Order: sequence, then C-alpha cells, then structure tokens
Amino acid sequence: MLRIGASSCLLGHRVRYDGGHKRHRTVTETLSRYFEIITVCPEMEVGMGVPREPVDLIGNPFAPRMIGQRSGRDWSGIMQRHGRRRAAEMERLGICGFVLKKGSPSCGPDGIPVRPGWGEAPVVPGRHAPPATAPGTASGLFARALTDALPLLPVEAEDRLDDASVCENFIERVHAYREWRECAAEGPSVSRLTEFHASHKLILLAHGERHLRLLGRLLAKAGNDAPEDVAARYGSAFMEALKQPLVRHSRASGNPGGVEWGNAPQGPLHHPWIPACAGMTEEGGNDGGDAPCQSDRCNTRPGS
Ligand code: SF4
Repeated sequence: MLRIGASSCLLGHRVRYDGGHKRHRTVTETLSRYFEIITVCPEMEVGMGVPREPVDLIGNPFAPRMIGQRSGRDWSGIMQRHGRRRAAEMERLGICGFVLKKGSPSCGPDGIPVRPGWGEAPVVPGRHAPPATAPGTASGLFARALTDALPLLPVEAEDRLDDASVCENFIERVHAYREWRECAAEGPSVSRLTEFHASHKLILLAHGERHLRLLGRLLAKAGNDAPEDVAARYGSAFMEALKQPLVRHSRASGNPGGVEWGNAPQGPLHHPWIPACAGMTEEGGNDGGDAPCQSDRCNTRPGS
C-alpha cells in the first residue's frame, strides 16, 4: 500500500501542547482507505513533552525562530535538525505525500504569523529562499525542513482536503509522485523520460494543454544537456502541472487540446487513483461495464 505521512494530531493522537488532538475525518476516513499513514509529531519527537508550553515563530519571516512563549527557550536548531533527519527517513520509507496540520508553528505548511522580536537570524543570500507564504508569515519549521528536503513531495494542509476536488487532486499527485520517483530512480535517459511523458499525456492534458506542450518542448529541446538536469527540470514541471485544476472539454470543442487521440496511449483513460473514475475507458464507459463516470470533475474523456 502506498505510504503518506501526516501530523500525528490529525489521526486523533493526543500530542498537542494541551494534551488534545485534532482528528480530521478526511484523513482518518478517506485517505486511510487509500494509503498507509505514517504519523509524525515533531514537537513530541524533539522531547517537548505533553502538556507543554506553546511556541511562537519570532524574528525574520525568511528564517524565523521557534521560541517558547513563557520560557523564551529557542527550539529552532533542534527542530530544524530533526526536520531534516525525519525528511530523510520519510524518503527512505517511500512516503509519497504529506498532510500537515494547518496553523502550527512546527507543522503548518504556510501562513504562520511571525512576531517581530529579538534574535532575528540574518538572511543569508542564496541560502534562504523567500518563503512561499504571505508577508509577515512563514511555514512551520518542520514543514519547511520537509519541503526543502523533498521539494516535489505533494503536501496539503488538512483543511483544504475537505474540498473534494483538492482531495482528489492530492490523491492523484501522490500516485503520480510515486511513478515519478520510480522513473527518476532508474537514472533516466531522455528516451526513458520521453516514454514517461507519453504514458502520462492524458493525465497532463486533463490539467491543461499548456503544461502538456511545455513538458513536451522541454524534452524536445534537451539536446546535449545532462540527463540528470533534464530529469530535474521535467520532474519539477510535471509535479507543478498536476497542481493545476482539471479543465473541462466538451464534444463541441472537437479535438480537445489538439492531442492526437489516435496516438494516445491505449488502455484505461483514467488513472485508477481517481476514486470516482476508476477504470474509465476512452470510450467513456467503465472497464467493468457501461456505468457512467460518477465524478462531476471527471473531464478527460474526449468528447464527453
Ligand atoms: S501540529 Fe504537529 S507538532 Fe503540533 S501536535 Fe500536531 S503533529 Fe504535533
């Protein structure tokens, strides 16, 4: 079974600073049907204990510090080192996605307020990339270490998964990430990347013709570039393309996206990880019968 990681409190573990949990139904009831979930509570793992004093992010949003609210104890270094260690361990365990607890100074993927204060860490040019989050806010320290170490890993905050289209997209990206990792692990040549691209044409098209063409051009222009560099560029653009919302094609639009359907890979059109669309064929019927697709977000059938 495919593995993802998740903040422990989302699974109902009583690991929060006040001894409570934040059990989240989409994680416990939906994602747990598809994935084995490896739980992580970075604050417990660095020995903060429970109950514990809450912490804040303080200082420079580019490189904030994690400080105990009453004691002023600085947990930044230990949390960053632990985050890097845990990320490497997650990689070894083969996790293909992570659900992070929104709003936590450790786990929050973005938007954690950073209070101005003493002890601002200097920004080292080229080392501290601007955080992908609003001004005056940052990612939690564990979340930052995880995403720095595994930049292509699909990551979502739990509250966003309540939107069915976001949840479907996360599941799709988790599976796609696994396939990409397997391809990358082979030490891909440009011909292997081209094969990978051909077998993912339809799923890319479902997210917009622009990205399909962009990735195709990237391979066509690879020339004498080192295959590792081409693979790094392709992998990052591939995972980015899958973040785009699905686009709808109508029968009236003729040949959607200009793709030569006759040349498209044969077999089930929908990747089976899209729960409502499992087994859909290019003719619009399910492999197991003629039942129509149940998903109103399903759009990858030519002329449906
Ligand atoms: S948000 Fe993260 S650090 Fe906080 S209790 Fe949950 S798992 Fe632990």
